[in-house]
Amino acid sequence: MPLRQALAPALDLLTTLYQRPDSIAMDPLSVPLSYSEPWDRELAAWVAAHLAYGRVAPMLKAIRSALAPMGSHPSFWLRSQSQAQARKVLEASLKGWVWRFHTANDLVEWILAWKRLDEASAFQGVESHLLPRLGTSPDECLSRLVQSLRLELPPSRGTRFSLPDPLEGAACKRWRMFLRWMVREGWPDLGQWKHYPKVALMIPLDTHVSRISRMIGLTTRSTPDARMVEEITTALRLLDPVDPIRFDFALSHLGILGDCPGLRSLPRCAPCPLVEICGAGVTKRKTP
Ligand code: SF4
Repeated sequence: MPLRQALAPALDLLTTLYQRPDSIAMDPLSVPLSYSEPWDRELAAWVAAHLAYGRVAPMLKAIRSALAPMGSHPSFWLRSQSQAQARKVLEASLKGWVWRFHTANDLVEWILAWKRLDEASAFQGVESHLLPRLGTSPDECLSRLVQSLRLELPPSRGTRFSLPDPLEGAACKRWRMFLRWMVREGWPDLGQWKHYPKVALMIPLDTHVSRISRMIGLTTRSTPDARMVEEITTALRLLDPVDPIRFDFALSHLGILGDCPGLRSLPRCAPCPLVEICGAGVTKRKTP
């Protein structure tokens, strides 16, 4: 069976396999999903996606503690404060907070950036700042926002890490994950942004997605950069022209949850729906 016909049902099955609560429990999206109000979810997603790197358990702890000073309705609290008031409270409450490259100061600036973007869009969050318009590609919009934030935020290691530009060749995994969360309405995503076209989403490329995509022929590239993002996304659009990024969660969690040994072998790979397609080789039998 040609790759395209075989891959679509296999990825569908993989997607179904990972639609379970324990998959989402170890994902940064679990934090925005723990809020019920849409603007709280957007602000939590803005923070969670930004900090989504490194080991999962301490990363989730860092995200929750980053949001804690704003209470159970963080967007309501942030909108009710002036910039100066919010800065004062956040700086005092987050003193000593750190997550790898990000300091408390980076985090405060990031939260206040959401507040400014939200106010500039008449309290409609940040969707309009990322929305592709006539004659502007989605990546040109993302690049424009990244460049304006680079000018606005104090330069630091954390800020540089948070502001990769797709037009400079960066894969922009955390931005693309934030977009997926906000735009897609299918499980497990939030689907709150009603104007951003789902088909314009690009794959949030992490180490697992790039590795497994190579193994199943979605890309031939070896460097996980903007060109690999383009190649995988183009391949997924052939499988689902309407919602190509719906496969992302399952592809990444096959790796994140340790279910993919990285080398096709039985019995480990027997439950994997991609086993007939995967080109990761087979382990040699040990001679007795
Ligand atoms: S190595 Fe095994 S688990 Fe990983 S993608 Fe290939 S068949 Fe699936």
